[in-house]
Amino acid sequence: MTAKGKVDLKQFVKRQSARLGANLIGFTNVERWEEYAEIDKLFYPQSIWPWSKSVIVLGIQIYPPMLETTPSVVYSDLYNTSNRILDDIGYKVANVLNQKGYRAFFFPRDCYGDISVLIDKPEAAFSHVIAGKYAGLGTIGYNHMLLTKEYGPRVRLVSVITDAALTPDKIIEKDLCTKCELCKKHCPTQAFTTTSALVSDMDKYKCSVYHKQLRDNHTYPCGVCIKVCPIGADRKIYGKTSITQEGIEHCRSFGSK
Ligand code: SF4
Ligand code: SF4
Repeated sequence: MTAKGKVDLKQFVKRQSARLGANLIGFTNVERWEEYAEIDKLFYPQSIWPWSKSVIVLGIQIYPPMLETTPSVVYSDLYNTSNRILDDIGYKVANVLNQKGYRAFFFPRDCYGDISVLIDKPEAAFSHVIAGKYAGLGTIGYNHMLLTKEYGPRVRLVSVITDAALTPDKIIEKDLCTKCELCKKHCPTQAFTTTSALVSDMDKYKCSVYHKQLRDNHTYPCGVCIKVCPIGADRKIYGKTSITQEGIEHCRSFGSK
């Protein structure tokens, strides 16, 4: 394919993704996993799918007025809806590439089966957060989430893996996280521990056990560490808080035990 052909395919995928509802769209080549070498090689896309050349990372926003009710059925329903939409977008974008003759599929956004599995093995086969960083969508914050200029960490991600050679986007070099540690302060399980590195040590076991409680109460997931993060242009629209305390209590009084 010519250089122009690659640009055209990338633009075509971008247009299709936006049309399907993606708020954020980024492209990376698989070489960036080797270049940065910050996770186990087993988790590189090319280790799992040797034909892969590019990863397209697609994000949708989490609405603050719903997130701010967490833990609640309102946020739980938003989370489930966002997962459904992401699967839909990922499936269809992969299909677009298939129809043009490329190998492509989407890696689902959570893919750990059930929260009880995460308690024993707190990781998934593929990291959308790492992929999002390499695709130029944001930087990894103290809270282990992808922080984006647009929505801070209030974004959910899915990745499409393909053998189409698409021009990678520029990586954001300057950390967006200010290390304010509001996420640490408000975490209900005290899962974060400050280290000399920007990203905290995280007790994933504590976080997972708490999530199991929330799941049993129909209010999964937690989301406090993305709720309180001050990064993101969405704060300009919604402000620091977008719901009254009475409103939060009202929403929490429905749908859960
Ligand atoms: S709340 Fe502060 S420390 Fe935590 S991720 Fe956001 S900017 Fe970083
Ligand atoms: S999801 Fe909740 S429990 Fe888990 S680290 Fe974030 S704030 Fe803490």
